[in-house]
Order: sequence, then structure tokens, then C-alpha cells
Amino acid sequence: MLVNFNNMLAQAKSGGFAIGSFNAYNYETIRGIIDAGSQAKSAGTIVAFGKKYLENMALEDAVAITSALAARTDMPVCLHLDHCDDIDVIRMAIAAGFTSVMYDGSALPFEQNATNTRLVCELAYAAGVSVEAELGSLAAGEQSHEGSSADREIYTDPDQAARFIAETGVDALAVSVGTVHGLYKGKPNIRIDILRAINEKAGIPLVLHGGSGIPEETITDCIHNGICKINVNTEISVYAVEKTAQALCSGERPHLSVIGKKQQKYVSEVVAKYIAFFRHQSQA
Ligand SMILES: [Zn+2]
Repeated sequence: MLVNFNNMLAQAKSGGFAIGSFNAYNYETIRGIIDAGSQAKSAGTIVAFGKKYLENMALEDAVAITSALAARTDMPVCLHLDHCDDIDVIRMAIAAGFTSVMYDGSALPFEQNATNTRLVCELAYAAGVSVEAELGSLAAGEQSHEGSSADREIYTDPDQAARFIAETGVDALAVSVGTVHGLYKGKPNIRIDILRAINEKAGIPLVLHGGSGIPEETITDCIHNGICKINVNTEISVYAVEKTAQALCSGERPHLSVIGKKQQKYVSEVVAKYIAFFRHQSQA
């Protein structure tokens, strides 16, 4: 059964770990993510689907595949619409059966972002769907498939975050504290001081985007300062494409069905690594 993310994020917050949110685009990626989560006996796994992948798969198809696979595991699975600035698409995702949505109004002025987020919360909560919003802006790293290459870092302001949460009633807030979408060009400079200040005022689970390639010790610091959900996208794609290229370089030309199966495995390998990172922190 598909669930919203509220219960799993509450468990993460009280247990001192984070839930992974992994981006999927087709059967192979969804299957790879859910298999890795089930095998790790994860407290929950989030399958994230972005609007830009509507060319790969319709919203209804994402719901059908994810719910069919979720029905075969005891692990709670959340199907989450990632970064969406279009409220009509959010309405369609809720109607199709998504259990969670992210409204991304981070490019808008504060008041407009808050007003739109509040509207999305009303729509979503009526259907039992959880909501994530974003305040501040992440810069673009290398090979990012999110946002635009012109995106610049705007750190989330802790006082604004507190006001935003009070005005919108949003379930979880994505913050900008120095992570980037895509791969890091150098060592990431994560502002734990800003994250700590946001967490002291927020009172709700915080979300870290740009999880690909963050050093493990930084993940620990982030989890200790309120991060309950961490998004990983780029590394899943980079790793699976690299391994696929290596497999084909040998000169072998396997059947397409064999490549599909291998790709599920590659996705599972990356997801399993991050689930272990995010969970391990409770013992750190
Ligand atoms: Zn993101």
C-alpha cells in the first residue's frame, strides 16, 4: 500500500535517521528503489517522480507500477511528486493517486510562494496527501537534471522559514544550506550553522535536496540538525549509465530484457548505499 510520508518522517525525526527519496523514471528505477528498501528493511522509502519525466511515463502509470510493487512488501512506500511549480499538475497527481507532493515556489517572492503552498496544502490534505515546499534556492552542480544550470545559491533564512511554516501549515520544508542539484564541483560547503538555526525555529521535518555525493560525515551533521528526508537523483542515473556503458563496452550485445534487469540491480546498489548512510547515523 502507498502511504504519505508523515509517519516515516516522524519516525526518522525521533529516531535520528533520514528517509531516502530516490528519483524514478520507469519500471526499472521504481523496482530497483523498492527492492533495495525492502531488502534493507527500511522504515520507509520514497519514490520520487518529477514532472519532467512525464514524457517517460504518465502519472497514472507511475501510480499503477509503484502501488503494484508496494503491495508486495511490508515496507511503507510513498509516491512523491518531486519539484512541481504547476498546481494543475499537482491536482492531477493527487487525483491519480500520488500520496505526497512537493510544491516548489522557491523562485517566487515569499508571499506568493506562501499563498500557493497554502492552497496546495488545502488540496492535498483533503486527500490525505503530504506536502513538501521549498524556501531558498539550490545552485546547479554538474550533470544536474533538475532546475536550471543558471540556478544560484540562496540560503534559506531561518526567520522566514518559521514564518513560512506558520503561514502555510506545510508538512516538511526543503531548505537551502549549501547542497547543489547534481554532482559537486569541489568539496561541498554545507552551512550547518544555518541549518541548526532553521531547525531550532521550524518544528517540522526538514528536507535536504542534492544528496548525490555528499560526504557521510556531512550527512551525520545534517541529520543531527533536523534533516529527515534526503533526495538522491543524479548519482542513480550517473552510476546506472556508467555501469550500462561498461557492460556494453565488452562488445557483448545482450537482449534488451537483460539490460533492463541489470539496470534494476544498478539502481538498487546506489539506493542501498544511501539507505545505509542515512540509517547508520542513528548509531553515530
Ligand atoms: Zn531537488
